[in-house]
Amino acid sequence: MKQRAVFIDRDGTISEEVGYINHPSRFHVFPYSAPAIKLLNESGWLAIVVTNQAGVARGYFSEEMIKRVHEQLKQDLENNGARLDAIYYCAHHPSVGEPPYRLDCDCRKPKPGLIRQAVEELGIDLEKSWMVGDRYSDVELARNAGVHSAFVMSGYGPGEWEHQRGSWKYQPDLIAKNLLEAVAAIISEQAETKA
Ligand SMILES: [Mg+2]
Ligand SMILES: [Zn+2]
Repeated sequence: MKQRAVFIDRDGTISEEVGYINHPSRFHVFPYSAPAIKLLNESGWLAIVVTNQAGVARGYFSEEMIKRVHEQLKQDLENNGARLDAIYYCAHHPSVGEPPYRLDCDCRKPKPGLIRQAVEELGIDLEKSWMVGDRYSDVELARNAGVHSAFVMSGYGPGEWEHQRGSWKYQPDLIAKNLLEAVAAIISEQAETKA
């Protein structure tokens, strides 16, 4: 049976937006992220991180560094009783750096490649799934992948909302203060739809 998933952006949504994370010491998970993901775990939803990390293509850090940061993320969440089902990242950039990372790939958000990869590997019901992020590009990703979108007021959220919303082609399906509020709303909304 296909599962429902909440796809979650990393920087600015699950962890603080501090620019390029070139070392685990710069990576700080929001205190509400573990409770949010625990809620998904307990409600039978998949929790999947999808993130662009073009710092690799730009030569700012290695792919190994991404893996270290993601180990730290998983550990931090596990220490607080929460479990991610998968993490997918894009390390490419279409016009900067050297091959193989300099690549006009299908996985750089808002292209839907990362979500498609998750669908192939995990079996996901896209119509019932959501993307949560702090940037308009996450709303575009949701649109491109065929999932619902939730926009959060953490990271770049408040600034993009205030200054750029007027030029957005698509509106998010849900606006929430942060990841925890978004997840709570998604789960209750889905429960209502099912009833
Ligand atoms: Mg972000
Ligand atoms: Zn890519």
